Amino acid sequence: MSLAIAFDNSYARLPSRFYERVRPEAAPSPGLLVLNTTLAADLGLNPEALASPEGVAALSGAAVPEGADPIAMAYAGHQFGHFVPALGDGRAVLLGEVIARDGRRLDLQLKGSGRTVFSRRGDGKAAVGPVLREYLISEAMAAFGIPTTRSLAAVATGETVLRERPLPGAVLTRVAASHVRVGTFQYFAHRSDEDGVRRLADYVIDRLYPDIAGAEAPYAALFESVVQRQARLIALWLSVGFVHGVMNTDNMAISGETIDYGPCAFLDAYDPGMVLSSIDRQGRYAYGRQPQIAQWNLARLGECLLPLLSDDRDKAVQIVVDRLSGFARQFEAAYFGRFLEKLGIADERPGDRELVTGLLSLMQMGEADFTLVFRRLADIVDPKADTEAFLSLFGGNAGLEPWLTAWRARLAAGGRSPTEVATSMRAINPAIIPRNHQVEKALDAVIDGSDGSTYIRLLQAVTHPFDDRPDDADLAVPPRTEERVAATFC
Ligand code: AMP
Ligand code: MG
Ligand code: MG
Repeated sequence: MSLAIAFDNSYARLPSRFYERVRPEAAPSPGLLVLNTTLAADLGLNPEALASPEGVAALSGAAVPEGADPIAMAYAGHQFGHFVPALGDGRAVLLGEVIARDGRRLDLQLKGSGRTVFSRRGDGKAAVGPVLREYLISEAMAAFGIPTTRSLAAVATGETVLRERPLPGAVLTRVAASHVRVGTFQYFAHRSDEDGVRRLADYVIDRLYPDIAGAEAPYAALFESVVQRQARLIALWLSVGFVHGVMNTDNMAISGETIDYGPCAFLDAYDPGMVLSSIDRQGRYAYGRQPQIAQWNLARLGECLLPLLSDDRDKAVQIVVDRLSGFARQFEAAYFGRFLEKLGIADERPGDRELVTGLLSLMQMGEADFTLVFRRLADIVDPKADTEAFLSLFGGNAGLEPWLTAWRARLAAGGRSPTEVATSMRAINPAIIPRNHQVEKALDAVIDGSDGSTYIRLLQAVTHPFDDRPDDADLAVPPRTEERVAATFC
C-alpha cells in the first residue's frame, strides 16, 4: 500500500511568470470526509493508500507527496463585468499532473489549503459546506455526462475558518483536464505579454486540443474549438436546469469543463429568469442568460488572441468576429438537439423545435417542475397511457392537450416503438438531481455535526441520476413552498 503518485508537472515547466511556487499550509488535524474511490482508480491511484494517514495528510496539504511541485497559477478575469488584472489561485494549489488510465493528463489541485501570493485579503481557506457542495454537484454533473472538473476527496482540516460565523474548515482535491481559464489568457494579454499569450496558447493546443496542432491556422482553430466546446457545454447545463451562478471569465475553463462550483443551483420550477446566487444582485448570470454570457466571455478570449491571429489588426478582428458569430448557431444546434432527445426525438425534422419551445412556455406558465416534467414524459409516450399524473405537474393546465397530441404524433412518425422511445428518454432525463433544498439540508447536518449519512445518501442518489430508486423517492420530490431555497451562498 503505497501512495506513490507518478506526477509529471508540465505547467510547472512553463516560464516562472505563469505561477508562483507555494507550500500548502499544514492542516492541524486532517480527517477524511469523502473519498472518490472510483475516480482514484481511474487516475491509477490506490484508494486505500489515499485513505491512509499518509494519504489524508497529502489530501489536506499537511504533507506534500513526492513528485508534486505545488504552484499557484496566475490569472486575471472579469468579475461581474469588471476587469481585475491579478486574481490567481488565492486559495488553491496545483499539486501537479497525473496521467489517468485512459491516457488523459489531469491536474490534481487542493482547494482551501491556505494562503498564496494571490490571496489578497482572503485567508486561503475553505469551509466544509462549500467544499462538500462542490464535491456533490461536480460528481452529479459528471454522472449526467456533462464535462466538469471532478472531486477526488474532501478532507476536514480540524481548523475553524471565519465566515459570517465560525465554520469547520476543509480541503477539496479537484481534478481537471486543466485549470487554464479565459482569465489566464487575460493575465498575459493585459500585460502586453504576447510571448506569454503565445506560449499559453501552444500549451493548451498541445494538452487540450491536440487535433489542431498541425492546422494551418492553429490559433484561429483553437478559438473556434473553444467556442464550440462552450456552446455545447452551456446547452448541456440548460438541459438539466443548471445555473452556474458566477460565470466570470476566471471561472470559464479553456478545456470546456464546468469549473468553480460556488453558489450554483438547479431549477425546480422552470423559469428562465431564475437567479439563486446571493452575490448576483443584477441577475447577470440568470439561467436563461448563460448562453449570452458565455459568448461575452469568449469575446474576451478572442481579444487576447488577436496578436496571434494576424499581423493585420482588422483581419484578426474579423477572424474573432466570424468565429464568435458561429456561437449562436452552435449553441442552438446543441440545445435543440439535446432537448429533442429529452422529448424522445433523435433525428430533428423541420418544425420540431416548436415542440421544445411550446412545452417550455407551458412549463413556465404552469410553474411546472423542470426535472419531473421531462422524467414523467417517458411514462406517457404510449397514446393509451393515462396523462393525469403528468398534467398535475402543471397545476392542471388545460392548454397541454394540443401539445401532447402533436408530440405523440411526432413520435409515432419517428417509427420507434414506445418502449424504445421511453428507454432512450429515461437514459437522458434524470430522475434525481441535487435539489437545492436537499443539498442545503444535507450540508447543514454535516456542519452542525448531527449527521453525515444524509449527505452520503444524497451523493449516492445524485451520482446514479437515471435510476428509478424507490428508496430515494423522497429526494426526487420538488420542495414545498416553505422548503424552497431563496438564495445560494458560497
Ligand atoms: P471565485 O469567486 O471562487 O472564482 O474566486 C475569485 C478569486 O478570489 C480567485 O482569485 C480566488 O482564488 C480568490 N479567493 C476566493 N476565496 C478566497 C479565500 N478564502 N482566500 C483567498 N483567496 C480567495
Ligand atoms: Mg474562481
Ligand atoms: Mg470559487
